[in-house]
Amino acid sequence: MPRIQQLPLSVVTKIAAGEVIERPASVVKELLENSVDAGATRIDIDVEQGGAELIRVVDDGCGIEAEDLPLAFASHATSKLATADDLFHVRTLGFRGEALASIGGVAQVTLQSRAAGQSSGAEIVCHGGELSPVRAWNGSTGTRIEVRHLFFNTPVRRKFLRTAATEIGHVTEAVTKLALANPCLHLTVRHNGKLVHDVPASAALRDRIGIFFGSDVHDLLYVVEAKQAEVTLRGFVADPACERGTAKLQYFFVNGRCIRDRSLTHALQEAYRGLVMSGRYPVAFLFLDMPPEQLDVNVHPTKVEVRFRDSQAMHHLVFAALKDRLRRENLTARLEVPPSFGGVQRLGYTNRPEPLPEPPPWTLTPEAQPAPTLPFASNQQVHRDVSAPEETSKQDPAMEPSPLLPPGSFKAIQLYNTYLVLETPEGMLVIDQHALHERILFEQLKERLRFGQLESQRLLVPEPVELPAEQAARVLEHREALEELGLGIQDFGGGTVLLTCFPAILGRRSPQAVLQAVVDHLVTKDQVPSREALLNDLLSLMACHAAVRAGDRLTPEEIAALAEQRSLADDTHHCPHGRPTALLFSRQELERQFRRV
Ligand code: ADP
Ligand code: MG
Repeated sequence: MPRIQQLPLSVVTKIAAGEVIERPASVVKELLENSVDAGATRIDIDVEQGGAELIRVVDDGCGIEAEDLPLAFASHATSKLATADDLFHVRTLGFRGEALASIGGVAQVTLQSRAAGQSSGAEIVCHGGELSPVRAWNGSTGTRIEVRHLFFNTPVRRKFLRTAATEIGHVTEAVTKLALANPCLHLTVRHNGKLVHDVPASAALRDRIGIFFGSDVHDLLYVVEAKQAEVTLRGFVADPACERGTAKLQYFFVNGRCIRDRSLTHALQEAYRGLVMSGRYPVAFLFLDMPPEQLDVNVHPTKVEVRFRDSQAMHHLVFAALKDRLRRENLTARLEVPPSFGGVQRLGYTNRPEPLPEPPPWTLTPEAQPAPTLPFASNQQVHRDVSAPEETSKQDPAMEPSPLLPPGSFKAIQLYNTYLVLETPEGMLVIDQHALHERILFEQLKERLRFGQLESQRLLVPEPVELPAEQAARVLEHREALEELGLGIQDFGGGTVLLTCFPAILGRRSPQAVLQAVVDHLVTKDQVPSREALLNDLLSLMACHAAVRAGDRLTPEEIAALAEQRSLADDTHHCPHGRPTALLFSRQELERQFRRV
């Protein structure tokens, strides 16, 4: 066993930095918090190469006294609290006195500052923990801090950095949180010299949401306001139509600090129960303000979690306020029966009421029925690269699949617009129409992909889709793989991507909604998936979107086509997500249960 020894300070700082500084965005977060704590009204942020090369934050806050400059880089040195008791009265964002020490330990930092009321300022350099002497600096009141070559002395960390586009996405996320929490603050962000965000002081919270999340979210917000004892809740929740596939657009702030909290997230999700499908997430920007004594902020190194003295009361406040707010909007009345699955559907609203009952198709009468429209059934042709003259989501006769095989001689009915019951020689087969169709499409798509790209329709007018910058970056990173799938995208700048081509099989779905689903899928992955895994995942996503859904009423031909396909394709027992597609009640079993044998 080696002997125990005290670690040198340089190692201690690197270990501490490992907790606090994960990537450029963590530096930005800490620096911005310091500027806000210093009472800044304007903060200018300059980033180069996603922050790996340079992060510069300039504020007009109260500044730092010249003689305090070296202390700013010392571990556990802070001007924000003095005694342990102060920890329960924290009104500032910072209090741990760790951030500058950590950043200074893993980068080359120049700190320049002029304290309010002083005639001149001073500067100091911290190079991987080594401090320079303090020198005079001529600048205006406030603080200017430059962080260069992040992780220059921790190569492993540096290797972990993703592309500049991804890192700037995370930086934007940090800026977004701060901008939302501090209306009245003027913020600018430049990346590689180009202005990417300019949030004026005059922009109120709602405008800020619009700036960062686009007009579709901005236009569908409802104000929330509630009070319970000394705690106030305010902010916005979005209409259920804004729902997302991840919880990323759920922001909670407590006393100006953006936090994660399972209980609050749960309250939000519960309030939307019945309005968004399970597995989908509402969008919300919620701000709780309370006396600092009711809160422990010292539970997480990067301060993203807090502990409430009365967590249940917070849950109740959020749940009750949102539930009441949503009830007043009478959203349920708008969850209407969609046109049958041939029509354009809004994604997400699948918890709609059951359609009016109609007599089940006990007898299959093909003549009386409209042409079936299951995509990709047996002998159907899909044309390659059809340029749709109008919006592609409209039905284009040229894109209409050709008729399917006529129904066979078997008997089949649809139950609850969701299950198909088939008579087969083996027994009674109960099929989940969505799961089975999804599986069939998935196999067909995979087969097609093996022989080249998937068919796509060019959009005559490319469709702009606004995304948070981080998500836009993620999609653009996977551009090539998406192209293979027939989804053509281009960077339009500022978080907007242009959708130029659209997979033909999804012709009926809204391009925007499909892209959003792809984005949601990509952002939930922590690691970069292999090309194989990505294509597989996206194919299954496409199959899911193109497939008939539970609740879709099928014509007898469609039922027949599905049954037909089932027997043609192999491996149709489970949908791509692993759910069974069909259950067999054998003839023997029926006979046994009815005591016929
Ligand atoms: P903390 O914010 O937890 O106190 P930091 O390491 O982030 O710890 O900062 C150390 C100290 O440096 C702060 O307490 C504050 O006094 C000073 N400081 C840092 N940045 C600024 C700034 N932009 N303006 C004024 N003072 C600052
Ligand atoms: Mg700080």
